[in-house]
Amino acid sequence: MVKPFVPQLVYVEPKALEYPLGKQLITKFQDMGIEIRHTTSHNQIRNLPGENHFQKYRMAKSTLVVGIRKTLKFDTSKPSAEYAIPLATGCMGHCHYCYLQTTMGSKPYIRTYVNVDEIFEAAEEYMKERAPEMTRFEASCTSDIVGVDHLTHSLKRAIEFFGNSQHGQLRFVTKFAHVDHLLDADHQGKTRFRFSINDDYVIKYFEPGTSRLHERIAAAAKVAEANYPLGFIIAPIYLHEGWKEGYLEMFEKLDATLPASARKDLTFEMIQHRFTKPAKRVIQENYPMTKLELDEAKRKWKWGRYGIGKYVYTDAEQEEIKDTLGNYIKHFFPKAKLEYFT
Ligand code: SF4
Repeated sequence: MVKPFVPQLVYVEPKALEYPLGKQLITKFQDMGIEIRHTTSHNQIRNLPGENHFQKYRMAKSTLVVGIRKTLKFDTSKPSAEYAIPLATGCMGHCHYCYLQTTMGSKPYIRTYVNVDEIFEAAEEYMKERAPEMTRFEASCTSDIVGVDHLTHSLKRAIEFFGNSQHGQLRFVTKFAHVDHLLDADHQGKTRFRFSINDDYVIKYFEPGTSRLHERIAAAAKVAEANYPLGFIIAPIYLHEGWKEGYLEMFEKLDATLPASARKDLTFEMIQHRFTKPAKRVIQENYPMTKLELDEAKRKWKWGRYGIGKYVYTDAEQEEIKDTLGNYIKHFFPKAKLEYFT
């Protein structure tokens, strides 16, 4: 059982202490006896404890920076939402294929932004621009926000903020089961709470530091009981020996645990495993012992964003994935909506 995240080291930016959440977090970490260092900006963080890259990388993943979000211009987040709402960056998990390894480069520590009200004001402006159209915000583009939220409650506030809004909706995805503090949030049905799931084999070998499948499913059942619209992202779908049985078991477990109320408005998203050449290099540096299959010769090359080609499964394999998992969804959750396979 993965315990809720507690940082080993905390950095604080001076401005963060001007905000109630900043003060509250620092007092909390002081009381917990965690080392707190001051830094003028997260960019100045050097000398994390550790003798080599391997140790420093792990330390960074256990380090929390309490700071403020300076840029209040939101990135777009197509196709599942209009904008990414920035509440945190980074993650304490150690998934070998995590996209953050390439996007965060040499700064893999976790940052939480305490100027939450300013972030909400910016969101309000984006909603006004599009009203009366609904505007959807994605909260997990740059972090696994649930993984850190038991400490900050920023996500909980965002859920309630969008619950009260006229034209806003929120969505996010997590691999963590620490959801209890979110169950009584006044969400008004405007937040879709999604869990990223995989079969036991994939979680065991490639997702250290995250909640196990049965824990995520148990958390999803609680979320459904709290009347949140629920969704699952099966990602990355990874072909390994016995994958069809592995994913079947995953669906059987879901079926055995999810309450009836969750099944009417349930979404699935399916994302096959892919990698780029730069990602392969970083994965092999950060997780040198990984069993992850990263052989370009076995894959199909596909144009990716920013002109960087990615390696996906062959057409025949993709068809097999779509058929197999698509049929499982139809069989176990006939009323669910499959949003996309990519
Ligand atoms: S839980 Fe998500 S964000 Fe965190 S390391 Fe794993 S893939 Fe990355």
